[in-house]
Parts: sequence; structure tokens; C-alpha cells
Amino acid sequence: MGTCRNCERSGWFLSITSDGLCHDCQNGINLEVTNRVRIVKESEEIIERSKNLSTKVSRAECIIQRLEGLLRYENKGIPTIKPAPSALLAQWQEKKDVIILDDINAALNVANAKAVSSKSDKLKHRAFIRVFSKIMTFGNKLTDPTVLDRVRDMVLRTTLELEERIKNSKPGLVKKNSMPDNTELPR
Ligand SMILES: [Zn+2]
Repeated sequence: MGTCRNCERSGWFLSITSDGLCHDCQNGINLEVTNRVRIVKESEEIIERSKNLSTKVSRAECIIQRLEGLLRYENKGIPTIKPAPSALLAQWQEKKDVIILDDINAALNVANAKAVSSKSDKLKHRAFIRVFSKIMTFGNKLTDPTVLDRVRDMVLRTTLELEERIKNSKPGLVKKNSMPDNTELPR
């Protein structure tokens, strides 16, 4: 007597495929796997091409969701894809972290370079605000959001110092720029 691993139907006349499924489930799961794999592949290509962090993160999340759907079958002992959904899922969760951290790191490098090369506090400020908003928008999507705490605090401090400098350097104000030029910047 066969029992389907998915719908758990069983019976003397129920024929079971080599994956341990009844034919209805086998057909349905084949179709679902094909669709999920297609979306994963499309999303991978988009991530590869895109330079937009928001696009890349939302596509990585889309891949993770699709793989989670396949993980349900893996947990029932039903084969779907190779490597197994659980292995790919772990890889993609890590990849998503790398995508976010690489992008924030690149923005931070730009801001640090500007802090050295630019004479304009406004341009420096803009560069650091950009880093700060990336941290605020994407930091909580990391597996461990606390890894950015120290950087976030330093970027915020630098941003506030620059704001103060910009405010104090407005024409008409008597107060002279009191900040040293070599303001410590996050590395
Ligand atoms: Zn079934």
C-alpha cells in the first residue's frame, strides 16, 4: 500500500512515484518547482545587473521566499532541487547580508573620501546623510542588524558635526568655524 508524502493519501490502488508522491501531487509540485526556479533565476539575473540596493535587496528577499516554499517539501522528505532548498536558503540569507553591507561600505568609502578631498561641508554632509539613510533603511534587513550600530553612531555624529559647521559658517553669523579640519571620521 502506498502513501503520498505530500497529501498523505494512501490506498491499495494508489500508485506512488519514485519521489514518494501520488500523481496529482507529483504534477502539482513539478509545476510549482519549475515556477519557483524560474523566478529565482530571473531574480538572480536582476541582482547581477542592478546597481540599485533597493532592487537587489527586494529580489534577494523574493528568492528567499521562493526557496522557503520549496523547504516545506524538503521537510516532508520530498526531493525538489539540488542543492537542497535549505542549503540554497542559507546561501541566499548570507548573500543578502553581503549585498547590503557591500553597498553601505561603498557609500561610506565615498563619504570618507569626500571628507578628505572636498572643501564643501555641504557635499560632505550629503555624502554622510546618504550613508546614514542606507543604514536606517536596510540595516534592519540584516540577519544581525546590530553589526552596524557602531558605524551608524559614527556616521550620525559626523553628520551632526557637519550640520553644526554649516550652520555656523552662514554669512551674517559672527561665530567662526570652531571645528578642527581633521574631524575624526568612521573607518
Ligand atoms: Zn498526494
